[in-house]
Amino acid sequence: MTWALLALLGLVLGSFLNVCIHRIPRGESIVAPPSHCPRCGKRIRSYDNIPVLSYLLLHGRCRFCRGLISPRYLVVELITGALFVAAYAKFGVSWLTPKALVLVCLLVLMALIDLEHQVIPFKLSIPGLVLGLAGGLLPSQSLTDAFLGAALGAAFVLFAWMLWRYVLAGIFRRFGVHQREGIGGGDLPFAAMIGSFLGLKSMGVALFAAVVAGVIVGLVMRAMGRAKSGQPVPFGPFLAIGALVGLFFGPVIFNWYIALTLG
Ligand SMILES: [Zn+2]
Repeated sequence: MTWALLALLGLVLGSFLNVCIHRIPRGESIVAPPSHCPRCGKRIRSYDNIPVLSYLLLHGRCRFCRGLISPRYLVVELITGALFVAAYAKFGVSWLTPKALVLVCLLVLMALIDLEHQVIPFKLSIPGLVLGLAGGLLPSQSLTDAFLGAALGAAFVLFAWMLWRYVLAGIFRRFGVHQREGIGGGDLPFAAMIGSFLGLKSMGVALFAAVVAGVIVGLVMRAMGRAKSGQPVPFGPFLAIGALVGLFFGPVIFNWYIALTLG
């Protein structure tokens, strides 16, 4: 029963996140007006606004103009639902579960906005950071660890940006590759926010996973000729992927790494 409720909650919140992903970067209100088709402007009926089901029944098209609805709507709902179930499976009845659910929503929201608009709004990441730090006050959680995780995230983005700006970009230019940095100012509070939820150890794992994911995807895109030269790839989605690795496997990977290096 709990499982079904959590999956449903994830799907419904995912549906709401879709609205936020579309409207927040455009400076629109997330409560009014009610959902409408971005193509014909017709209001979406409540029975056409059921997560996943409506998308499948309407074959991913608007009921009125038959315009295609981005598959992003379906994907975001499914991912949010799946991550909610995964979080409960991992953390069970503990304070870690609500923390994980909040983090999942923030990650989906900001990673998708970054992917579409190449920006992570401060008005989302700063309140997220405050929430993460507040989570450190919960029973059996550590405020100090939340602060340390946030500091590590911020320091990493600053370091990566300077490394790129002052060292790597010059080396690339010498080889005739003009690649703009994919790390923007919005990544700093975003990384700090993630760190405040994960704490120091898991944040270390998250950052490592983010870099690995970024390198792999970057190489694959280059090999497929998808990356236009000079086109920056936003780093936010990789931070979000790293954050999920840190959230679910952080302590395991950290302990495994310590045992490996010390043992
Ligand atoms: Zn329409």
